[in-house]
Amino acid sequence: MTTVGVLALQGSFNEHMAALRRIGVKGVEIRKEEQLQTVDALIIPGGESTTMAKLAHYHNLFPALREFASTGKPVWGTCAGLIFLANKAIGQKSGGQELIGGLDCIVNRNFFGSQLQSFETELSVPKLAEEEGGPNGFRGVFIRAPAILEVGPDVEILADCPVPLETKKSLMSVDNGQEEEMLVSRERVIVAVRQGNLLGTAFHPELTSDLRWHSFFLKMKKDSSERSLQHVPTSGTDLEDSLGKRPLDLPIYE
Ligand code: GLN
Repeated sequence: MTTVGVLALQGSFNEHMAALRRIGVKGVEIRKEEQLQTVDALIIPGGESTTMAKLAHYHNLFPALREFASTGKPVWGTCAGLIFLANKAIGQKSGGQELIGGLDCIVNRNFFGSQLQSFETELSVPKLAEEEGGPNGFRGVFIRAPAILEVGPDVEILADCPVPLETKKSLMSVDNGQEEEMLVSRERVIVAVRQGNLLGTAFHPELTSDLRWHSFFLKMKKDSSERSLQHVPTSGTDLEDSLGKRPLDLPIYE
């Protein structure tokens, strides 16, 4: 039986736990390093990466989190979780913030602007559709989201999106120093990537009713571990059965 840990220090961990319930997989809230030993995969939710980093540091979780990711067990970072996994983050508060790292990319925090510039958009997700079926589009919920500016050669790009005009205007109006070229000139930014056992999405799939990213993530275990994977329900009927239990769960956005 696959057990998925969800880092539960801060942010949208409840929503990921609910998504796991809907898909019929056991989720465990992770707050202590020893709890990591009981799970086969880990989700790092969205939230506020600086706060989450402070809490992870306070609870001495960083060494265990790095160890977990380096053993090849699947780790998925959504939004702030993606920032956690990146090798490099820009747009950090002065003094920086601790990262787990491992994902060979440069992430820009709050790329699209403030909370008010949060948005939803239809993303093209051919790889997800190929693996999980369903439509080529996915509703991306971006909440004060980061964007991935650069990726290394081992990183597979799973989705990108056009830079909204609003974002372009505000990027042009501030002095970004040496980062100017990297930021202002681009038409599109990367918003979903995979590198081996690491998955990163700048948006929040746990806030939608489309559970294909969760299912895709669970299948990564098969590639990154010798152990056999318990059946993950993805067919329409299985999913509809689990969706029938939705009243127990948190509200989700259709
Ligand atoms: N802006 C947040 C950060 O930098 C991320 C937002 C989110 O996770 N929705 O940590």
